[in-house]
Amino acid sequence: MISVLSIFRKKYPIILPTDRHVMSRGSIDPEVLEILARIRRGGFKAYLVGGCVRDLLLGKKPKDFDIATDARPRQVKQLFRRCFLIGRRFRLAHVYISRDRFVEVATFRAAVDPDEVQGGRYAANNVFGAIEEDAQRRDFTVNSLYFNSADSSVVDYTGGLRDLEKKLLRSIGDPVTRFTEDPVRIIRAARFCAQLDFEPSGADLKAAKSCARLIKEANDQRLREELFKILRCGASEGTMRNLIRFRLLQEWLPELASERYHDGLSRRLAVVDRRRAKSEDLPVSVLITALLYDLFVEATGTDGGRQSFQEAFILLKERFGEMAGKLRLPRQEWDNICNTAARQMILMRPGGGKNWKKFENKFAGNAYFPHAMLFFEILVEATGKYGEQLAYWRRFSRPAGEPAGTGPVAAAHGASVRKPPLKPLAECADSTETPKPKKRRRPRRPRKRNPQQQQPLGGAPV
Ligand code: ATP
Ligand code: MG
Repeated sequence: MISVLSIFRKKYPIILPTDRHVMSRGSIDPEVLEILARIRRGGFKAYLVGGCVRDLLLGKKPKDFDIATDARPRQVKQLFRRCFLIGRRFRLAHVYISRDRFVEVATFRAAVDPDEVQGGRYAANNVFGAIEEDAQRRDFTVNSLYFNSADSSVVDYTGGLRDLEKKLLRSIGDPVTRFTEDPVRIIRAARFCAQLDFEPSGADLKAAKSCARLIKEANDQRLREELFKILRCGASEGTMRNLIRFRLLQEWLPELASERYHDGLSRRLAVVDRRRAKSEDLPVSVLITALLYDLFVEATGTDGGRQSFQEAFILLKERFGEMAGKLRLPRQEWDNICNTAARQMILMRPGGGKNWKKFENKFAGNAYFPHAMLFFEILVEATGKYGEQLAYWRRFSRPAGEPAGTGPVAAAHGASVRKPPLKPLAECADSTETPKPKKRRRPRRPRKRNPQQQQPLGGAPV
């Protein structure tokens, strides 16, 4: 008698030979093909897996290439000269193809990655496995497709090929179980749907909503990584919309969940995405200011009210200190962010006051000016306001390292572009120095001097 199980087993794997799919070896980096070939020559199986296979089948350029093999990490290490094993419980091999580029080679595993789930709850089950098991532990069906480097076929154990065609994001197995195991997968679902222009399956959408509250238990470091992946993926606006739709934003970043922020946030993120599409890599301070700007403005007032920008800086730093901790932002990065945000009030209202000339040169020569300007450009594009002020400050934009007011941009624009000062700014005489935490110094002990060697008062030391 044929058991139900054996019928199910017969369905998978689906193997598409090389002439039945669009993925060609020509679209894979030659160095990656060489690594795959060397693993095979060592007598092991070697597959490409995950996002790279998904993206190549969709005709997109993959961000990076991941390899899965039946070779154990130590066996992989023996095959390559520049190979390092990382990870504590589950070891991964990083094979370097240049000084700063490596390919991750992972041994097939049976259970979930302890680093991928909460507090290592699943660590005990973590053992190497067969490719079929490796396919089952991955998050979504479209992320579980394998490219067999031996014959260039694509192998599907979970229905990823069908979902890819239907543009459907579907968890492998029961979505409630998978999202409960690792709620960060809900954030990944929101990002993948936006990035790939996919829809979540009905069951996944329902499960995402019902499991959203679990995100509070997720590891802060992983959440931080996901946040930056979102801000840099080129589809941050769509991802935010999905996070709202999945009711996840209110659990993860409740500070941003109020509807009154959605329009401004979505306009700024759309600009961030457009810049990403042109391969621009925005700094962390600009990305986080784009995310939190409405909160900052609410705290300080649009134009900073009567306070100086230094006062605004201190206020932001203190008021949102807890948020910085939650987002795991190092202190220096948090300083950069608060500086970028606090300087917007000066950028919005240049001019005025008898000491303005001195002030603006100092302001534009400050190390924080380029990032503040970068965010200001985003703000101008997002709101359609402050175009005149942007032109005013652009005279000071210069290549890094060149003193203020001397760069080719400043020279090219010269005084002709210069606009008369706009509204006077009461605080313009303030110093542009950024308040830095005072260094604590041990008081110096008075030096004992030999009275005979003492210099006469006012004399230069020998
Ligand atoms: P991206 O284009 O963002 O890199 P990706 O699919 O390659 O997308 P990665 O974070 O690089 O995403 O992960 C590589 C692969 O590891 C995924 O395709 C998926 O198969 C698996 N994976 C990653 N995170 C998880 C997770 N939390 N749970 C299960 N599998 C995961
Ligand atoms: Mg990847």
